[in-house]
Amino acid sequence: YPVESIRNFSIIAHVDHGKSTLADRLLEITGAISKTDHNKQVLDKLQVERERGITVKAQSASLFYNHEGINYLLNLIDTPGHVDFSYEVSRSLSACQGVILVVDANEGIQAQTVANFYLAFEAQLSIIPVINKIDLKNADPERVEKQIEKLFDIPRDECIRISAKQGTNVEKVLQYVIEKIPPPQCNTADPLKALVFDSTFDHYRGVIANIALFGGEIAKGQKIVSAHTKKRYEVNEVGILTPNEQPTHKLYAGQVGYLIAGMKEVTEAQIGDTLFLYKQPVEPLPGFKSAKPMVFAGMYPIDQTEYNNLKSALERLTLNDSSVTVHRDSSLALGAGWRLGFLGLLHMEVFNQRLEQEYNMSVILTAPTVPYKAVLSSAKLKKEYGKDEITIINPAQFPDKLSVSEYLEPTVLGTIVTPHEYIGKIITLCQDRRAVQKDMLYIDENRVMLKYLFPLNEIVVDFYDALKSLSSGYASFDYEDAGYQSADLIKMDILVNGNPVEELATIIHRDKAYAAGKLLCERLKETIPRQLFEIAIQAAIGKKIIARETLKAYRKNVVAKCYGGDITRRMKLLKRQAEGKRLMRKIGNVEVPRDAFIRVLKRE
Ligand code: GDP
Ligand code: MG
Repeated sequence: YPVESIRNFSIIAHVDHGKSTLADRLLEITGAISKTDHNKQVLDKLQVERERGITVKAQSASLFYNHEGINYLLNLIDTPGHVDFSYEVSRSLSACQGVILVVDANEGIQAQTVANFYLAFEAQLSIIPVINKIDLKNADPERVEKQIEKLFDIPRDECIRISAKQGTNVEKVLQYVIEKIPPPQCNTADPLKALVFDSTFDHYRGVIANIALFGGEIAKGQKIVSAHTKKRYEVNEVGILTPNEQPTHKLYAGQVGYLIAGMKEVTEAQIGDTLFLYKQPVEPLPGFKSAKPMVFAGMYPIDQTEYNNLKSALERLTLNDSSVTVHRDSSLALGAGWRLGFLGLLHMEVFNQRLEQEYNMSVILTAPTVPYKAVLSSAKLKKEYGKDEITIINPAQFPDKLSVSEYLEPTVLGTIVTPHEYIGKIITLCQDRRAVQKDMLYIDENRVMLKYLFPLNEIVVDFYDALKSLSSGYASFDYEDAGYQSADLIKMDILVNGNPVEELATIIHRDKAYAAGKLLCERLKETIPRQLFEIAIQAAIGKKIIARETLKAYRKNVVAKCYGGDITRRMKLLKRQAEGKRLMRKIGNVEVPRDAFIRVLKRE
């Protein structure tokens, strides 16, 4: 395939607007997959993706398409829609020259449509606007076209109206891809320059790197060098994704494909790295800004004997998800473990679910915290840390007010898109979350875009759920980093019969501590099963108790009831209890469900 007949593109959209369904149709039209009901959301390979119906990892597929007598090679990269994964989106875009921007004909432009549009716009990519789900009864493509024109300055007659589900007009999308997206600008005669834009780990074959060739060609047997590690490798296999791996003789400039080159260590295939030929060094490509974790939590094995297994599972999973940061950590109560940084709470839950499903690991996760900062005033601490300002990602390391001149908290600029009837309730919610309004714009007669500056910790856990429920699911939300601001922070402990529950310690704004402490105690009371003695559940700031709940004793002995009864029944019961115990964690003499904090914080 000459470079002129290659097109590299992504599909971007708000979550649920139909990216994966459109990708399926494109795969069908080009013969990559057959038309059966089993082929739903083919690019969503992970179990967690299929279960949750969301895309987490960007996947690619090469499509072959003949248009007006010319054979084209179209490389499609599917992207996740959720705000937590926008890092994946911008990474995918670096391998593309254009995007298909999908907007639901019924829902219209949503918060992530806006965010994704700007990612593509800033990367100077060609944008093909597509209005999907025109088969729906309430579809109003005309209104959506007006929104696109008003907000993105794209003439309404450039939009394609489609139904990805029924296949209507999908062929036209492919024609637009060929006509409106430029081919990559690079040359096979140049020295090899390959961008590693993603990588996965295979138990048998080692690291599989997804690469985009910005110059030259690559084939089995060649010696290559990583610009990042300076290590040398011999290429074992190259190929394209159709969407399954299909080995090819060579990959050429402009193509997107995969490479296996005996990289065994998880750290060897750095995403954003440039690969070149051993004898022909090149200037590395700019690479990527590393993903910035917004949410941190401690992770510990339930049983310390599992430490090494968990360590290797973490190493493998973080190769597939390089946006997670990992630092070793330890705690008196929980033993040796790690402090992990995630892009958001959904990202953290998905990561945890993948650990369980793909690596069969169960872990203790602590309450999430955002990265706070403290400007130190104590000479002793300054010396200890070797700096005047520290970042706090673990409540256990929260420095006392006496040694700090100022605490700082991270903020984000949030975008909310909503039908106007919910504005009142949403403004109240935002004020309750200590947010400051920055902008308000009507994108059509009854749809409004609001911009607010939020303290990050106010939106991390349940803001999105609250917003969805008060707008009957109609409001959408996205956010971007907006730096730090001064804040009156304190550390709040949760005690169970006087023993601190380390995974529930939180750093919190002083004005919010009393209400939050009371709520945490109440919910914990509902979550902890009653035991043979009374349990006091308390919230405390330092030595001061600010809230208390009491869980009454449970008298009946479940096993006693079975004495003298059927022995197998008794064994079964004991076994079931033992299984239940693995999901429990002891705090003093009290048994608390391991996943208590997620349930406590999220009120499921
Ligand atoms: P993604 O989150 O953007 O990848 O969206 P999906 O492709 O997973 O689609 C979300 C939901 O919308 C699924 O239930 C699809 O079946 C449905 N959907 C996608 N395209 C269409 C369409 O053209 N018409 C209708 N009626 N439903 C669609
Ligand atoms: Mg999807």
